[in-house]
Amino acid sequence: MEYVSPEGLRLDGRRPMEMRQIRAEIGAVSRADGSAIFEMGNTKVVAAVYGPREVNNFSICISALFDMIAIRCEYSMANFSTGDRKRKPKGDRRSTEISMVIRQTMEACIMTHLMPRSQIDIYVQVLQADGGTRSACINAATLALSDAGIPMCDLVTSCSAGYLNSTPLLDLNYVEDSAGGPDVTVGILPKLNKVTLLQMDSKLPIDILENVMQLATEGCKAVANYIREILLENTKQLEYRRGV
Ligand code: UDP
Repeated sequence: MEYVSPEGLRLDGRRPMEMRQIRAEIGAVSRADGSAIFEMGNTKVVAAVYGPREVNNFSICISALFDMIAIRCEYSMANFSTGDRKRKPKGDRRSTEISMVIRQTMEACIMTHLMPRSQIDIYVQVLQADGGTRSACINAATLALSDAGIPMCDLVTSCSAGYLNSTPLLDLNYVEDSAGGPDVTVGILPKLNKVTLLQMDSKLPIDILENVMQLATEGCKAVANYIREILLENTKQLEYRRGV
């Protein structure tokens, strides 16, 4: 199948290096300490953060004993998030793996030493799935953690890129993702210039991997710029409401 036309356009009309439209909203869940909705094209996710709070589970008291913080993350897909009704929204192998990946990625930016003997819970749920849900969840979690006032050394942002028809493609949608080509998901700390996440689901020659990774990193930087704007806008609104 042709994923890039001779005119250089993808199936959804994007250029190879073009991201889908992104949109974010802070404070979508009133009961959570911090929350956000993040959309990348038709992929839409919500993140809710609770904490830092006292550890409430015996199994994670072990971390508290060693003056550590327990960060928990749960990724799930709503039954209505995919074309076919999703029968198992969480607890399957894929959800367990993505929960772990998101937790490890978020741990890289949280200043855990400032909150010993406490716990932070991050819940991310996919409302609409169209490829790149783990990236969207990481971006939503970053915003939700910021909204909860959790101290972080940088904003983690994520984006994916793939390689189809001998062309590197930024931010794959479901049709491109399911084409069977490589899909590289990258997470970065943009200010510290560090990579915190790198996942790939098939083989790629090393020189092409570098190009695809570079493209995904550019996507992460674009997301970081957008997230900074949203956070700034949110802070201005809070100041306005407080009459500062
Ligand atoms: N997907 C689906 N049902 C599932 C799992 C995945 O429809 O049970 C779709 C969904 O659109 C998802 C895409 O397949 O975004 C690619 O899934 P993958 O495991 O590669 O993770 P993602 O790209 O979402 O991080």
